Amino acid sequence: MTLDLSKLQGLKTPVYVYDRALLEATLQEIKSCIEGKPVMVHYAVKANCNPEIMKMIAGAGFGADCVSGGEIKAAVAAGFAPESICYAGVGKTDDEILTGVKAGIGFFNVESIEELEILNAVAKEEGAVINVALRVNPNIDAHTHHYITTGLEENKFGIDLRLLDKAIKTVASMSNLELCGLHFHIGSQITVMDPFVLLCEKINGLIEHYRKQGVEFKVIDVGGGLGIDYDNPDANPIPPFKAYFDTLLSHLHLGEGQTLHCELGRSIVGQCGSLLSKVTFVKEGIGKKFVILDAGMNDLMRPALYGAHHNIENLSAAARQGDEVEVYDVVGPICESSDIFGKEERLPATRRGDLIALRSAGAYGESMASTYNMRPLPASILL
Ligand SMILES: *Cc1c(COP(=O)(O)O)cnc(C)c1O
Repeated sequence: MTLDLSKLQGLKTPVYVYDRALLEATLQEIKSCIEGKPVMVHYAVKANCNPEIMKMIAGAGFGADCVSGGEIKAAVAAGFAPESICYAGVGKTDDEILTGVKAGIGFFNVESIEELEILNAVAKEEGAVINVALRVNPNIDAHTHHYITTGLEENKFGIDLRLLDKAIKTVASMSNLELCGLHFHIGSQITVMDPFVLLCEKINGLIEHYRKQGVEFKVIDVGGGLGIDYDNPDANPIPPFKAYFDTLLSHLHLGEGQTLHCELGRSIVGQCGSLLSKVTFVKEGIGKKFVILDAGMNDLMRPALYGAHHNIENLSAAARQGDEVEVYDVVGPICESSDIFGKEERLPATRRGDLIALRSAGAYGESMASTYNMRPLPASILL
């Protein structure tokens, strides 16, 4: 993303700025990777539910992956075809299930045997049949941050492999449920392909095992998780989709009538967004200098929540040129010690009023923002 200071200087901060051209190029790259292949990509709405962004992704022909009733409603409003929507979640309420049934979504990713009973009851009440993909916990370590791994036995997500037989039999016994496939999601910000290879091998075993019993899965949904390069957003603005899809398609033994579904969130929207903020104070401590921004952890929660790091750029100093490099802790104004964007950051000498960009903030940025400390939600703009 090229951040042009002249276009940004007048904006009221903090504000999320999105690069429309980069998002379009990213969507185009995904499309070119899957053209003519039995692949359907669902955009994981929770990564960024900005209505304009969702509209662009829906307009490009992608499906949606939702994790709440609210997201289903937002996805339909943004123009995603209902039959292209899938819905996962360990704690779907009856109301949320009803929202999905009434909208006519494509399939539910079911996370427990307990959930099947309720789904069937709601479907019966509505005179509907629900397509069910069983979310399997494959017990694979995605080697990512422990808060964003989801495919281990100790995680709350999915159905344990040892309970899968029972879950499949339960679906078969229920009048208003139809088994359509298997679903997996092993974690997020995965930057190497090995965990996906392991996942494919597990899936092949399951397809083969159940085929012998006469059970076929139309939908093989591998979830999301492809990571982005937070350290080098300019060198790698578009994630390695070709390697990702090649890995999946070459390792998975898909049969006739089987479609690979992916639920990509971060990799679609992560690099197209930056959080812009102004420097409120440069505070001199004892042996330490703080850059205090007008953006805080309520605007961008990832650093406080996961210890994540977003590249920090002083756009004003870059335009001034020639300022000496200094070392700062870059912090927000919130009354929490975890409200830190970077420790010992090397930045050109920074002044009050300088415009700062927190890069790669398009995913899990705006969508996680809150009004903590009674601050307004950050604004956003597509450029
Ligand atoms: C969050 C989530 C995704 C998207 O994950 P990314 O790492 O953003 O690609 C996909 N599927 C499910 C079920 C999720 O919960």
